[in-house]
Amino acid sequence: MEKKHPTIDNPSAGSAAIPQNPDAAGIEKRRISSPTDDTRRLLSWYDENRRDLPWRKDPTPYHVWLSEIMLQQTRAAVVKEYYTRFLAALPDIPALAAAAEDTCAKLWQGLGYYSRVRNLQKAARIITLEYGGEMPGTPEELKKLPGIGDYTAAAVASIAFGYPAPAIDGNLLRVFARKTCLPDNIKSKEAKAAALTYYEAAIPRDRPGDYNQALMDLGASVCLPNGKPDCSACPWQNTCRAHETGTETDFPVMPPKAPRRRIRKTVFLITDGERILLRRRPKSGLLAGLFELPNADDLPAAEDAAYAAVLALLNRQKNTGIPGRSHRSGSVLPEPPAPAAALLMPLGPAKHIFTHREWDMTGWAVGADLRKFPLRCTRSGELFAASLPEIRSEYSIPSAFRAYMERLPEAMAAARSLKLPSANDSGESGLLRR
Ligand code: SF4
Repeated sequence: MEKKHPTIDNPSAGSAAIPQNPDAAGIEKRRISSPTDDTRRLLSWYDENRRDLPWRKDPTPYHVWLSEIMLQQTRAAVVKEYYTRFLAALPDIPALAAAAEDTCAKLWQGLGYYSRVRNLQKAARIITLEYGGEMPGTPEELKKLPGIGDYTAAAVASIAFGYPAPAIDGNLLRVFARKTCLPDNIKSKEAKAAALTYYEAAIPRDRPGDYNQALMDLGASVCLPNGKPDCSACPWQNTCRAHETGTETDFPVMPPKAPRRRIRKTVFLITDGERILLRRRPKSGLLAGLFELPNADDLPAAEDAAYAAVLALLNRQKNTGIPGRSHRSGSVLPEPPAPAAALLMPLGPAKHIFTHREWDMTGWAVGADLRKFPLRCTRSGELFAASLPEIRSEYSIPSAFRAYMERLPEAMAAARSLKLPSANDSGESGLLRR
């Protein structure tokens, strides 16, 4: 039998699990409320309660697009500052298209999901070359651009161009799931299709952008994702099935969570007191193309293993085992060069959670002679030495390393007390005190 989903005409279809409300007359009275009434109530609520956000002051296609990309997975309060800074540096699409990739990544630093800014720039280049610098205005055309999917296309088309397309994101899905007591897993195709049908019928032709933004605001400030929603402040409290039945927190129905992959990492803050060693990550994969502190996976917890790994890194060896012995064959290798490095202090544990994986890190500050290392990044995977001002202005280091980057001044001071030969000195490096 075909599964029924809630629609504008039949908001309770498919919601067999809803408890019976003894106040049948009250339910009937609420159900006669039409979608037009709901839309009107929502827009009135929005007119009085809309959030004051910088991208709403002048909603050009570029402003809406940039803000929507930044807002993916990030709260508006955090995005405000990034948005203002990004626009000050790259005020329009041609400026974004012409910027250096590292400049864009630096402006994005801290927002995470760096593929978003790479796609933003790729799309800006296409808009400049193929659309004469003007963003296209329909969802179909917008979706041809890198990084623009159904949601962003609908948000830009409705807010900047007045196109009546519902922008279905987690907020709209959650509100819809509660409003209709949707029994489907909220991540399922069925749930998305049902929400789309509902919102497509409800979105007003005269204010589609406001309708989408009203739902975004409702989801962000009233129909909250975690915990109990503030139904007393909701314009839909009289037509919401979950509120009516007291089941607000039962919806949306979430899929079971897949376990995250845990990766153990040892991270090294290697400094001579003036500079630190960085390297660029590979062009594809997690945190692609960004700069990172040197690190090694799955090292034994012992201090000796960390020291051996540092020596291997500094000597550009692939083997991260104890110097002098091959992991695979057990055969004795030639003695490595005299170690120009010293473990200064443990930096303790830190954790960073990505969508599908988790880094369980431990850190070490390392004093080392960095004179043999280049002062600029030449290629991915190569270690190079950068000063603190250079890091602040040029190199985007993901927030995964923040806990250790914050210890940098302390590590540099400890390295200076070792009296390491610095980048400004001449002469050969010697054996460091450990
Ligand atoms: S009444 Fe409550 S549960 Fe229903 S949409 Fe409004 S805030 Fe969400």
